[in-house]
Amino acid sequence: MKIAIIGAGMTGSLCAHQANAQGHQVVLFEKSRGRGGRCTHKRLSWGSVDMGAPVVPATDADFNHQMQLWCDQGLAQSWPAKPLTWDANGFKADRDVPQYVFVPAMNQVCKSLTQGIQLHTGVRVSHLQPLDSGWLLWDDDHNKYGVFDAVVCTAPWPQTHALLHDNAPGMFVGEQQWQACWALALAFDAPLSLPGPLVRAKHPVLQCLVNNSDKPGRDGDGNVWTLYFNHEFSQQHVDLDEGGLIRAGLEALTDICQQPVPSVLHHYRHLWRLARPLSTEQPPGILVSQQQRLIAAGDWSLGASVQSAWQAAKQVTSSLQSMAVETVP
Ligand SMILES: Cc1cc2nc3c(=O)[nH]c(=O)nc-3n(C[C@H](O)[C@H](O)[C@H](O)COP(=O)(O)OP(=O)(O)OC[C@H]3O[C@@H](n4cnc5c(N)ncnc54)[C@H](O)[C@@H]3O)c2cc1C
Repeated sequence: MKIAIIGAGMTGSLCAHQANAQGHQVVLFEKSRGRGGRCTHKRLSWGSVDMGAPVVPATDADFNHQMQLWCDQGLAQSWPAKPLTWDANGFKADRDVPQYVFVPAMNQVCKSLTQGIQLHTGVRVSHLQPLDSGWLLWDDDHNKYGVFDAVVCTAPWPQTHALLHDNAPGMFVGEQQWQACWALALAFDAPLSLPGPLVRAKHPVLQCLVNNSDKPGRDGDGNVWTLYFNHEFSQQHVDLDEGGLIRAGLEALTDICQQPVPSVLHHYRHLWRLARPLSTEQPPGILVSQQQRLIAAGDWSLGASVQSAWQAAKQVTSSLQSMAVETVP
């Protein structure tokens, strides 16, 4: 089959790789300039910093095995940092599960999986047109692509819903609310006084503090941190200016460290308007219209993590296999 895959994050890159390995002709569309989606990093004049998913916990045995295979291929490394939680009573050890990072940056596995696959970056698919022979894809600049036998959309649920709902209203049951997250990278002139490089915080402003320089395979002098602001704060402050965000981050950090923090040498911020689904208690699974040969899937299908993106991509691969079997006369 000729398959269009929308989105070159973890789910889309994995789907593209697996469909290509099954012998399908795959074309990948990505609205950003690069691959990785929410597993991304920013290369700055003062260093390279992960701004999306900071770490990949593997709670599922099969996914853990996959992570180890990627480690063997040099695409990932185990990160032995002991995660901590912080609340008003202080620091505690967090659940100890195997955890990894992709190296040298979080988008590395997406880059590797999509090598050799036809990829259009900087192309936002704006709508799909059904034809007797399959699907035509249109972008924001009124360019058309196709015809495709099947389309897989791996964008976050709200974007997927906007793109596919008119073509396949029956695929979507219910709503999924998503939350924003500010990520702020700070380079300090001295070490922060925190007891570990990975702290999940129950704080009204911050939800996670990560020492980027502590991760395996990164350059740096140990003083580059990414602060993840909690979803409520981020949602209420999407318009906050850079100075305001830095002030709020440093105040919260001082609160958590219980002492003044070192001076900031450099900073960079990114707002994830669609960071994660509000609740992952009842994820919808992957959405499939076998008859129309449309699939919608992402981390949101089964959770809200890199692990759930991997699991969703596996299910997409099986669905594509059964669609391909159906097309054989
Ligand atoms: C701040 C933050 C912290 C996180 N922390 C963790 C963590 O610690 N551990 C963990 O496991 N996970 C974490 N996650 C979640 C993790 O990043 C995601 O689960 C995973 O990256 C999702 O991959 P995906 O491919 O399903 O979606 P995405 O990465 O969102 O990929 C979808 C892609 O589709 C593209 N796209 C969207 N619409 C279109 C269109 N119309 N046309 C073309 N392209 C389009 C987007 O640009 C994007 O690249 C975090 C996420 C964020 C934002």
